[in-house]
This record gives sequence, C-alpha cells and structure tokens, in this order.
Amino acid sequence: MKQRYYSFSSYLRERFGERVHRISINAGFSCPNLDGTKDSGGCIFCNNKAFSYFANLEGFSLEEQIAAGIEYGRRRFKAKKFILYFQSFSNTYGDINFLKEKYSCIKKFDNIVGLAVSTRPDCIDEEKLNVIERFKEDYEVYVEYGLGSVHNKTLGLINRNHKFADFQKAVALTQEYGINTGAHLILGLPGETASDMFATMRILSKMPLWGVKFHCLHVVKDTHLEQMYRNNEIKLLSEDEYVNILVRALELIPKNWVILRLVSDADRNLLVAPFWLNDKHRILKKIEEEFNKRKSYQGLRYESTCN
Ligand code: SF4
Repeated sequence: MKQRYYSFSSYLRERFGERVHRISINAGFSCPNLDGTKDSGGCIFCNNKAFSYFANLEGFSLEEQIAAGIEYGRRRFKAKKFILYFQSFSNTYGDINFLKEKYSCIKKFDNIVGLAVSTRPDCIDEEKLNVIERFKEDYEVYVEYGLGSVHNKTLGLINRNHKFADFQKAVALTQEYGINTGAHLILGLPGETASDMFATMRILSKMPLWGVKFHCLHVVKDTHLEQMYRNNEIKLLSEDEYVNILVRALELIPKNWVILRLVSDADRNLLVAPFWLNDKHRILKKIEEEFNKRKSYQGLRYESTCN
C-alpha cells in the first residue's frame, strides 16, 4: 500500500534514485542556551550526550566521524550516497570562518550528496545563510530549526530562551535564500493539550516550510526534565496517545512536506522514560494502523489559504 505520509527516505529516493543514508555528526559547535550567552541550563530536556553517537566520544575528528558514518551506512544499508547532518548543539552558532571550515568538510568525500544543518532560530543571519546557500549548487541542502511549539508560554516553560517570532523571522530569511527549511516539533510538552499541539500544526501549515521532524517528549538522564518527572510534575504521553496525536497532526499539514522523522531516537543508556520509545518498529506499525483506521493520510485536513 502507498505510504500515508511523505517520508524523508521517499523524498531522497525520488531525488537521487536510490537510498541515501544520513550521517549525524558532532562538529564541535556550542549553544547560546548552554554557554551562558542566553542561559547555562539549556532546554529542560537537553542532554548533549543524547544527541548523536559521536556526542559521547571524545577526540574523533570530523573526517573520522564521517568516514565511520559512511562505513556504517555501507555495511548496514548498502548505501552509496550520504547526507551529512550537523546535528549536535546549534550548528550555525560560531564565527563565520568556523562555519565555512566545518561545512566544507563534505567536499573531501565524493559520495556525500547533501548538507543538513540543525540549529536554533535565533542563531541565523544573512551572512551565515549566504555561506550555506553556496552549497546548493552541488548539494542537497536544508536547514532545520528547533522549535518545539508555537506557544510562547510553552517555550518559556521548557527554557528555550527564544520566542515563536524568532522562528518566523528565521524561516522568512531562509526562504529569501531559497534554502529548504525544516522545523523540529515536540509532542507532549509540559502543559500542552492535544488542541495546543494541533494549533501548532495549523499555524505552521501556513508557513513556507519544506519539512518537519517530530519528537515525542522523553526524559533523559541529567536534565531538569528528569527532576520534574521524578517529582511527578509532568505527565508523559502514552504510546497510544502519541500515535493518535501524531496521525491527526500529520493530517493538518501539506501533503508535500517531507517528514524528516516520526519518532524520536532515544539513547537506551540515557533514557529514563517512556520505555515504549525503544520499539520504533512497533510504533511505526501502529502509526500505519492508525492511518488505516482513520482512513486518512498526511494533508487530509490541511486548510490551504488559497481558494
Ligand atoms: S537549543 Fe538545542 S543544544 Fe541548546 S540547550 Fe536547547 S536542545 Fe540543547
């Protein structure tokens, strides 16, 4: 049966005619929400060690990380093409020459076909976008902005230290450079109801986004969220609640938006809760079943502003 949502792997197959494997790396960036510029505590759910495999390993050069990622993708998925994903921390936060040096690393590897940059919406400007834009000629390029929710009250609760307006500004600016733009969303944030999450989807669906990445709020060790969880100050979504909300959220967005991820990857060694996240295969199956049950698909309830 045809997929009910537009997965990133489908997008890449259409674009490159074959499987493309994404390599997540830690390029040595920092974050203004951690280094004291905006705050030193970070977002309440943030534990940098949970970002990527390499976030936990000291002393691996960027080239070594890429080579290891390529080797793994070749062995595990028989992939021949790769996208380099600057994932850990805020990957536009730094001196412009530092950015150029890091991104240019992809040129050393013939089989890398794409550059993906994940960052905060308050860490972007014309100069940085100009650097990223130059890669468009030879590579698939996209920028992902962390957001979580459009509700400023929630952004305050999770200590993002930026507002939704920063995201709107970043998306508008990125569009001026013709760069594909993705948003990171979190379902199940403290204080949010399903209606709040659907409001986020409806508001975002009017924006010029290219893709969206979903996370389920989960608790990892050594975070403020862990304390809140242990003090019974938060309630996490159950597996069924997540699947139900996610499917309904997907119905609200344009059908041509690329779904960069449906379920969070949780490091087993750091995960405190919920443990159902560990069985990704089962969750993906449930998502498919929920779509079937609802006889729906991505975009079914999307309300275009054009008449
Ligand atoms: S913006 Fe990202 S890196 Fe910075 S504290 Fe929040 S989750 Fe962590």
